[in-house]
Amino acid sequence: MRWSQMFIPTLREAPADAEVPSHILLLRGGYIRQLAAGIYSYLPLGQRVMNKITQIVREELDRIGAQEFHLPALHPAELWQESGRWEAMGQNMFRFKDRASRDLCLGMTHEEVFTAIARNEIRSYRDLPQIWYQIQTKFRDEPRPKSGLLRVRQFTMKDSYSFDIDWAGLDVSYQKHYDLYCRIYSRCGLKYLVVEADSGMMGGKQSHEFMVLTDAGEDQIAHCTCGYAANLEKATSRLCPIEDNPGPPEPVLVSTPGQKTIEEVSHFLGAPASQQIKTLVYATAQGLLLALVRGDHQLNETKLQSAIGSEVRPAHPAEIEAALGASAGSLGPVGVSNLRILSDPALQGRRDLTCGANRDDYHLSGVTPGRDYSAEYFDLRLIQAGEPCIRCDKPLALSKALEVGHIFKLGIKYSESLGANVLTSEGKPAPIVMGSYGIGLERILAAAIEGSHDADGICWPVSIAPFRCVVSVLNIKDQAIVEAAEEVYEELQRRGLDVLFDDRDERPGVKLKDADLIGIPYRMNFGTKKFKEGNVEWVERAPKRSEDLSVDQALAKATQLLTQ
Ligand SMILES: [Zn+2]
Repeated sequence: MRWSQMFIPTLREAPADAEVPSHILLLRGGYIRQLAAGIYSYLPLGQRVMNKITQIVREELDRIGAQEFHLPALHPAELWQESGRWEAMGQNMFRFKDRASRDLCLGMTHEEVFTAIARNEIRSYRDLPQIWYQIQTKFRDEPRPKSGLLRVRQFTMKDSYSFDIDWAGLDVSYQKHYDLYCRIYSRCGLKYLVVEADSGMMGGKQSHEFMVLTDAGEDQIAHCTCGYAANLEKATSRLCPIEDNPGPPEPVLVSTPGQKTIEEVSHFLGAPASQQIKTLVYATAQGLLLALVRGDHQLNETKLQSAIGSEVRPAHPAEIEAALGASAGSLGPVGVSNLRILSDPALQGRRDLTCGANRDDYHLSGVTPGRDYSAEYFDLRLIQAGEPCIRCDKPLALSKALEVGHIFKLGIKYSESLGANVLTSEGKPAPIVMGSYGIGLERILAAAIEGSHDADGICWPVSIAPFRCVVSVLNIKDQAIVEAAEEVYEELQRRGLDVLFDDRDERPGVKLKDADLIGIPYRMNFGTKKFKEGNVEWVERAPKRSEDLSVDQALAKATQLLTQ
């Protein structure tokens, strides 16, 4: 490809609303342009990178025998109503009516459609296992699109689905995907981490996320040098035992006028936050519940949702008042018999604690869980950096990370709700056991830039760079170097290398700056002075290194890139 004929609209400056490096550099490098909030056009360079990523993903899926489909992006409401997700997806799903007033949506994911195909076509255990995938445009009505390709409303996903006769089969399909994802991210040049994750709206038993550590990410993960790693939504830590006083034989009512927060009560009563019970009230489809965590801990809402298996929201003040007869700041579990009480284990086995008395401006001290109230124990707390690792006791680190893939053991959630059954070897009907596996292709692209750029521009991993090499003519007026560079360009093309030929009539400074910005990994500079000595300059983009080579040596170097 000749740069003079290629559409690469580079910019000196990125628009002011671009903040993260991938967003800034994709705009400046002429890779993407915004059409509307969270909706982007891929220009030729951007599309080349997407094609390379897609190619790697496809090759690796084909290696495990996965079969490619292409399903519609436009779905009838009925399928989503059958699975129960028409409601559950809420405002995240784009919905509209057709001319006959039938409800339709734009697919966010394809569990329903793939399961419907399996339901209609697969009859027997003999037809299993199957692994099906597609590379498709997905839609999500993101409330706050931002950060370029990181939080968008239209994106490209590889989604695959496994169908097995039993859970042991699912374990095999899941492990195949786990390994295949590792190969994909390695080939794309990403430094990634596999973390335990919450299944969220997908449902199912077990899930892992593939994460790239970067400040541009919106997830937080806890990780340890021993290899433990989990999304903060799911992460846990080892509790350090606390020695409590035996306390009084029963709770003591204490007046705490105007003392509402944990800090205020702590100061007023002289009791540390770790000796208090933080009582939170949540509304669920089944009514209100109390969630208890230690005074110095925070509640993790995702864990609470996982514990009860449905969505929660903080209760409104009026709901709290009606149920408990007091307002937030004076709440506690003692004497509560009409609400479900869930507690974090950090309160289990403790004594002589303080909590609200369910009477405004009063607290109870000397509260002992188990004696004065009973609760169901679930891991509910948000862990903090430095807490001991659950596996090895070393302090946990917290880092921001970007999710680039997520795999789920769905089990029978969708096959049951949609009625996808097959006959087992004993001739009995059984729901198909499913897995679901997603990769956001733009996430790989953006993560590669977040992880590999410098002040001058992008530093692409060779495998997904739009071109592996640029052949640059520094002085277009010098016919000798133009001819020599042209010959090298054509020879490299013959050898199968994707090479960009910078034949523009521009100053050398402009050419070098542009090449750095768009981030092609290797560059061959043809300059008048060096060429008279029989040499060209061979430049490695990152780490920046250059050496003078003969044309033949440079050709040989560039040819080696074919194997990278
Ligand atoms: Zn550890």
